[in-house]
Amino acid sequence: MSTKEEAPGLALYVHVPFCARRCHYCDFAVTRSPDPPVDEWLASIDADLSEWRRELCGTDLPALDTIFVGGGTPTLLGARGMESLGDCLARHFRWDEETIEWSAEANPNSLTADTAIAWRGIGVNRLSLGVQSFDDRALQWLGRLHDGREACEAVERALTAGFDNLSLDLIFGLPQEIERSWQADLHKALELGVVHLSTYGLTAEPETPLGRNVAHGRVALAGQEQYVEEYLLGVNLLGSHHFTHYEVSNFARSGYECRHNWHYWIGTEYLGVGPSAHSYIRGQRTWNVRDWQAYRAAALAGETVREGRELPSGEQRRMEALWLGLRTRRGIDLDRFGISEAIVAGWISDGRAIRQGARVKLTPHGWLVLDDMVAELAARTTEDE
Ligand code: SF4
Repeated sequence: MSTKEEAPGLALYVHVPFCARRCHYCDFAVTRSPDPPVDEWLASIDADLSEWRRELCGTDLPALDTIFVGGGTPTLLGARGMESLGDCLARHFRWDEETIEWSAEANPNSLTADTAIAWRGIGVNRLSLGVQSFDDRALQWLGRLHDGREACEAVERALTAGFDNLSLDLIFGLPQEIERSWQADLHKALELGVVHLSTYGLTAEPETPLGRNVAHGRVALAGQEQYVEEYLLGVNLLGSHHFTHYEVSNFARSGYECRHNWHYWIGTEYLGVGPSAHSYIRGQRTWNVRDWQAYRAAALAGETVREGRELPSGEQRRMEALWLGLRTRRGIDLDRFGISEAIVAGWISDGRAIRQGARVKLTPHGWLVLDDMVAELAARTTEDE
């Protein structure tokens, strides 16, 4: 898939809003629920999809290219919940079992061998494990429910179940006082033989326990120097092990880039169902009610679960496409975005970008300051108007 026109179907995101416990740094749309109401959730997802059918004038929803079941903790659905979700989706969509990319997120402590085997049998063919670290102290500090040994065992269970397309999430930029070795975690991930890694820098969102601790001076996050050092360590180490750095935070062995995320980055239509899920259909952006109880109540009462919608202006779409394009290894076409040669020359001369014919793509040094670069371009556009 290289352009919007070539997209072979729709990308579907399904949000599972349950976690057994909330991690200290998490501000996702989740509710604490070790034993979630799976049947109510399934009925709500079905109602959400039916609302889409009505909204799109009763036509059949299009064929799917990718399914991504994220959260939250989808492993809390167990085998039966994922199977029922598959049945629900099959009532609304069609897809080619040979070519669909069906991803699911999983947490190490709730990915049992039975769940892994059952999910693989149902058709899930890509797993993203929320490992974050193999260091017990770091995991405890983050508020995760697993330890390093359990993370390794979960990887083994996933591989044994047949998930050769296995990704791990890892967090860098932890406070120095934890004495976590980022390099050791990267080496452990490589040793386990996974084909995809997503690395994220820790941020302190204000409404989280971590954010409050940082605001009150009880915790000091990693400084900028450590953040940059660890990001570049990941880039260099993974590059030397034949991982392509294909997006700011994502690295993959050949053939294992996440197709679902490419849909977002190249601007194809996508559908999201579940609390807080966003969609982009027919030029319109919509988003669902964030709170699980409010979402459930609306869905089961036959009311709308949409909280908002907007038709982005041409300029909004242009800036978003610019930002998304610059996130990826493909970069952007200079002619399409009308960026001056002088600006690009500045980026290249200080190592933030490289030129490839009519395209420009950012280097890892550029990706570290991507938001600032796009903000600068937006400010110049406003000045020129
Ligand atoms: S497992 Fe993920 S979604 Fe759940 S609380 Fe932790 S960070 Fe948030």
